[in-house]
Amino acid sequence: MIIPKERHLTPEQEAELSAVTGEFGITLQKIAGETRSVYAMVGDERDELLVKRVEGLDYIDRVDTIQKPYKLMAKDSELGRHSVRLNGLTIGNGHFTVVAGHCTIDPKNPDYFYETAAAVKEAGGDILRGGVWKPRTSPHSFQGDHRSMDILIEAKARTGLPVDTEVMDSEQLDLALEAGVDMLQVGARNALNYGLLKEIGRKIAGRPTIVLLKRGMHMGKVDEFILAAEYVVSGGNPNIVLTPRGTVPTMDGFRNHPDESITVLLKEKTWAPVLVDPSHSVGRSAYVPFAACAAAAYGADGLIVESHVAPVKGIGDDPKQAVTPEVLYKLIRDARAIHAMQKEHVAHIIANA
Ligand code: PEP
Ligand code: MN
Repeated sequence: MIIPKERHLTPEQEAELSAVTGEFGITLQKIAGETRSVYAMVGDERDELLVKRVEGLDYIDRVDTIQKPYKLMAKDSELGRHSVRLNGLTIGNGHFTVVAGHCTIDPKNPDYFYETAAAVKEAGGDILRGGVWKPRTSPHSFQGDHRSMDILIEAKARTGLPVDTEVMDSEQLDLALEAGVDMLQVGARNALNYGLLKEIGRKIAGRPTIVLLKRGMHMGKVDEFILAAEYVVSGGNPNIVLTPRGTVPTMDGFRNHPDESITVLLKEKTWAPVLVDPSHSVGRSAYVPFAACAAAAYGADGLIVESHVAPVKGIGDDPKQAVTPEVLYKLIRDARAIHAMQKEHVAHIIANA
C-alpha cells in the first residue's frame, strides 16, 4: 500500500505514480480513507526496486508491503484509523450502534413497518432494517417484492433514520443505490460471492454508503471472513462493518451455532466495527436478548436485531425471531450498559493481542 504525505495527490502526481508502478506490472486502486487517500497495489508489490522508486517520489511518505493476506482490513494498515460514519452517526470508536426492524417488509401491510420504524426509533435504534428482497431456501417461498422499497424509503422519511436492506444481485444493488438505501446488507449466503462483493465495492466508491457484511454460515476461518470484506473495500470505499450471525453445524435447539465470541478475534485483527446479529444466530426471540448482551460483553460495537410491533403478523423470520419494541428497548439499554462497562477492558485486550 502506498501512503502519500498529503491528504490527496494531484491528478499529475497520480498519473506519475501509476506510470512508475505500471513499469512493474502493478495497477493502482485508490482507497478514500478518512485521514487521507491511500493506494493499494494490485500485483506483486514486493519488488525492492519498485518500493525504492515509489518511495523516491517526493510526495510519497512510504510504501507498506504488509505480508498479511489482507492489506486494507488489517488493524495495522493505514486504514487502521478509519472511522465508519453515516451522516452524523459514528459506528465503532466507542459507540454502540443498533440496527433494528423487520426481517422482511410485507408489501401488503405497510403499516406494520411504519409502526415498527417509529418504535425502533423510540427504543433507541440508530438504523432501520427492512428486507425488501429475501434469500429463501425454497423458490416457492416469498422472495420479497421490489415495491417494498417504496415502503422502506417512506419509513426513512418519516423517522429520519438511515435504512438497511439486503441485496443479492446487480439489479437489486442498482435499485437500492438509486432509492437511497444507506446500508447495504450482504447476507450469509453471499459472503463468498466474490463477483457480487467486487461489484458492490466498485459501485459504492465515492458514495457515503455502508456495507454490512454477514459472516457466511460455513466460514470456519476468521481470515476468510476478513478477506471477503477486503473484496468490498478494495473497490475504494472503506465503510464496512462485519456481522457474525451464527454458523453451521447448528447448536441443538438453536437456529445456528451462536458465534458472538468471534467478535474479539475480529477486533484484534481488523479495524472494522463489528455489529453482531443475535437474531439469526439463536433464531428464537426469547433468546435474542441473551445473545445480544453476550455480544456486548465480547466487545461488539453494536447489533442488528429483528424487531416487529406484532411478530406473529410478520412474514419471513419475524414470527419466530423478532422481538417486540418493549423487548428491544430493554435489550438496547442492557447491551449499551454492558458495552460501556466492557469498553476499556476490551480495548486493553485488543491492544495487547
Ligand atoms: C436476514 O438478515 O434476514 C438474513 C437473511 O440474514 P442471513 O444472511 O444472516 O441469513
Ligand atoms: Mn431474517
